[in-house]
Amino acid sequence: MESQDKTGEPQPKTTDSSGKSFEELGLRAETLASLARAGYTKPTPIQAGVIPYALAGHDVIGQAQTGTGKTASILLPFLNAWSRGKDSKYAQALILVPTRELAAQVVEEARNILPEDGPESIVVCGGQSMGPQVRALGRKVPLIVGTPGRVIDHLMRGTFVPAGPQYVVLDEADRMLDIGFRPDIEKILRRCPEDRQTLLLSATLPDDVLKLTQRYQRDPKQVRIASEQPTVKKIRQSYASVEEDRKLSLLLRILKDEKPTQSIIFVERKRWAENLYSSLRKDIPGVSMIHGDLPQGMRDKVMEAFRQGRIKHLVATDVVGRGIDVKDISHVFNYDIPEDPEAYVHRIGRTGRIGANGIAIAFVSPDQGERLTNVEMFINQILEKRETEGFESVRPKDPVGEKPPEAPKQSQPVFGRRVKKYSNRL
Ligand code: AMP
Repeated sequence: MESQDKTGEPQPKTTDSSGKSFEELGLRAETLASLARAGYTKPTPIQAGVIPYALAGHDVIGQAQTGTGKTASILLPFLNAWSRGKDSKYAQALILVPTRELAAQVVEEARNILPEDGPESIVVCGGQSMGPQVRALGRKVPLIVGTPGRVIDHLMRGTFVPAGPQYVVLDEADRMLDIGFRPDIEKILRRCPEDRQTLLLSATLPDDVLKLTQRYQRDPKQVRIASEQPTVKKIRQSYASVEEDRKLSLLLRILKDEKPTQSIIFVERKRWAENLYSSLRKDIPGVSMIHGDLPQGMRDKVMEAFRQGRIKHLVATDVVGRGIDVKDISHVFNYDIPEDPEAYVHRIGRTGRIGANGIAIAFVSPDQGERLTNVEMFINQILEKRETEGFESVRPKDPVGEKPPEAPKQSQPVFGRRVKKYSNRL
């Protein structure tokens, strides 16, 4: 499938690039050596699409969700072009991300790929003390990964001056806009040099993201990785119809029967996360919890322990719904099926990471049929009904649709529609 850019020019194939090697993307020998050390043998479609344009100096819009290798697609062009010395166009890069967890993950991927003598990186996020950040920014650390709020703090204090040519990336741009970062992003971009290179990565391309690209990118090349990307396909999705007051026993049963290697159990609100966590830990070892009210230090510790496999089951709100890449997650539970079908897709994307299979189970109570229908329409797929002995029940009622949507006749992009509701409940 060929996508087109705004000028109608054919774009490189992005969904069947299996024949392309990293060499063919134009990376230099040192970068290839780093990739070999990291164990990456073949570019993923988003990498095959983004890297050649970025190396040629173009601005790029990349449409891809996490789990597609998008982080490396933004890091590699910078690594390839980076050189020490303040006169270099690629002396410093700024990567803006929506959450602290995602920032930590980008830096981790950078450390995974970059050679020991490569560019040093720093996370510039809230919830951490300013001192070390101020010192690192003062030293002009080459790779800055931060959330717009904290980067703005540094701009205002004068501790970060985005002078000199820059490589600027807006990662998960749609999410950053959702959570209200637009003014901060615009302020930052206006202060960056005009001749910078700007890459924008986003799972969806709604109007507000496109407006951002029109204002702050020059003639961007577009690379789309839509429904054919492997992650979603490899996930076995099902739903269980269950009364609200039996969800906990059903969850315990599935955990005991299926013995997930690791799982994330998504709930809608912080308070519910606390309650579920207290109930689960009585029966199951290795349970922990993460939500937006926990202090940053605690959140970091929980994520670290989860990454290392010391925590097996993580009860979470959408604070970890996006961007978190932990390889051994075999199961994602939507303990509360989200109202926003896009959140569903992001949550289940935590399993089935590059090449691995994953299992996603949504719990749907009898009055949540409409949510289930919305998810099914959004992903263009009917979810399989999962039966568990002792928990039999009928398909939840959808007061609007009454019956499930018909199976799609032809495949459509997974991302397209948008129902947005983010709030401070997370
Ligand atoms: P991301 O979509 O950036 O969150 O990446 C998901 C995972 O894929 C990360 O654990 C990366 O380390 C891994 N990854 C990225 N690119 C490649 C590649 N070309 N080959 C193998 N693994 C990769």
